[in-house]
Amino acid sequence: MNPPADTRPLTPVAPWFPRGVTLLHEPSLNKGTAFTHEERDLLGLHGLLPSHVCSQDEQMARVLENFHRLPTPLEKYIFMTALHDRNEVLFFRVIAENPDEMLPIIYTPTVGLACQKFGRIFQRPRGIYIDANDRGQVKSLLGNWPRRDVAMIVITDGERILGLGDLGASGMGIPVGKLSLYTACAGIPPTQCLPVMLDVGTNNLELRDDPLYLGLAQPRLTGVAYDELLEEFITAACELYPGVVIQFEDFANHNAFRLLAKYRNRICTFNDDIQGTAAVALAGLISALRVTGGALSEQRLLFLGAGEAATGIAELVAAAMAEAGSDLDTARGNCWLFDSKGLVVAGRGSLAAHKQAFAHEHAMVPDFAGAIRALKPTAIIGVAAVPGAFDREVVQEMSKLNARPVVFALSNPTSKSECTAQQAYEWSDGRALFASGSPFDAVTWAGHTHVPRQGNNSYIFPGVGLGAIAVRARHITEAMFLAAARALAAQVSAQDLAQGSLYPSLRDVREVSAQIAVAVAEVAFHQGLAGIERPADLDAHVRSCMYEPIYPRYA
Ligand code: NAD
Repeated sequence: MNPPADTRPLTPVAPWFPRGVTLLHEPSLNKGTAFTHEERDLLGLHGLLPSHVCSQDEQMARVLENFHRLPTPLEKYIFMTALHDRNEVLFFRVIAENPDEMLPIIYTPTVGLACQKFGRIFQRPRGIYIDANDRGQVKSLLGNWPRRDVAMIVITDGERILGLGDLGASGMGIPVGKLSLYTACAGIPPTQCLPVMLDVGTNNLELRDDPLYLGLAQPRLTGVAYDELLEEFITAACELYPGVVIQFEDFANHNAFRLLAKYRNRICTFNDDIQGTAAVALAGLISALRVTGGALSEQRLLFLGAGEAATGIAELVAAAMAEAGSDLDTARGNCWLFDSKGLVVAGRGSLAAHKQAFAHEHAMVPDFAGAIRALKPTAIIGVAAVPGAFDREVVQEMSKLNARPVVFALSNPTSKSECTAQQAYEWSDGRALFASGSPFDAVTWAGHTHVPRQGNNSYIFPGVGLGAIAVRARHITEAMFLAAARALAAQVSAQDLAQGSLYPSLRDVREVSAQIAVAVAEVAFHQGLAGIERPADLDAHVRSCMYEPIYPRYA
């Protein structure tokens, strides 16, 4: 049977359009064996390709066959990176069609290992590297980036990569991976995405001594010099790319909170570790309440961890409780933190500023299971990167207190998870409402199959970014994250809940992101922060901004 005729409009080839080998080596334009005979004539490609013209589906089948043959996730990551460097459209099509299989490779958990091995698996650079010696030259260095239509930047200084600590310039895998998700999950055009590494050195001595380390092998820049370098970058980026969204990623918490406070009302920015995580966790809680039947304001949350993720989630949950009628202080009083020293309580010496709103009157409790007995939480949320911290005793204590205990083991990568899905279901006798930062397979326990899904901010940030870009939002606000959380939770079906899934399937992530983006855009108009006239059909406008990983037809 002949394939259906391709009726998509033709893209005229401009005089400057690359031809021949140059075209085949330009990943954003390359179609490889899918260039038709007419295109091969037009673009000087005859003789440079085998004669059979492949469809994109055939190319995808070839990619998947090779992918499946590879024995380890790291080798799959390297293979996909090479495809990204060769044929961008095909790379994004493969991910968009196979998100369950691909996201754990191009993002967490595999990206963590890829960062640890960065200096060893490095093939081609992607993005901009600004190092501590570039002060005074950041704008001209950004000018070396070939695109002027950058709309989304992800920047890291590599100091707290996932739960793996200071990986210095090797942390570049995270902005690269995250931006791949912006495109794959929300259709932000890859040409509008720019990964940035602020290489201020590393305090990781093992890396500094590694001859294959690719970053500055010197102690981290700190204080005024650090702030000036970052400020120079922010100013230059906003001048070169007006309205750009700058997402801070994997900064250590001594910088993350203060940089968010410094820039959130000045530019269009957010910190995904604090705010994106908060929205995904809130969405998971809203879903869990559809099972337990309780009200959000009646929940008591106990966090293992008191850093960016924990306090970000606690703040947003408290804001959601306050929107539902609670007083904000009372709402914060329902959120408790437990850090490396024990329960965070009022009067405990030298508490960091971000913990203080959640340091309530209570006796100090040194162990987590003891804190559960003392506080009787309805939910425990693990964001401390302490693997195994939700042990049998912890899960069983939660199960004594709650018919359906909420157990979120959100730390990444998988090696840092507080417990596995199997453990959560087994130790709660199948009653836990479980979500995890990195994926776990379905678990069959006592004849019932539970399908845990990822409480990962990858459900949130792509849609937030798309919404902000689509309406040229001036700032990204807490109200936008509340709207994003609700839009995500609204897409969880009764069928999802029945199998223990607190999030929609990743297969639907583009639709999930589109709906989140529309919700975020609505808030931008409501708050007077949109930089465009309100389109007659906001939903259609947002969707029209989404890139489709389909080859153009050149003529
Ligand atoms: P962070 O460094 O800001 O905070 C870590 C916190 O853990 C600190 O408060 C620290 O005191 C506490 N801690 C350390 N050891 C402890 C112990 N033994 N007992 C109790 N608390 C302890 O880091 P973060 O940004 O909050 O991230 C923490 C974890 O959450 C990481 O693994 C990260 O990958 C994960 N995370 C997951 C998502 C997601 O979408 N699922 C998003 C963001 C962060």
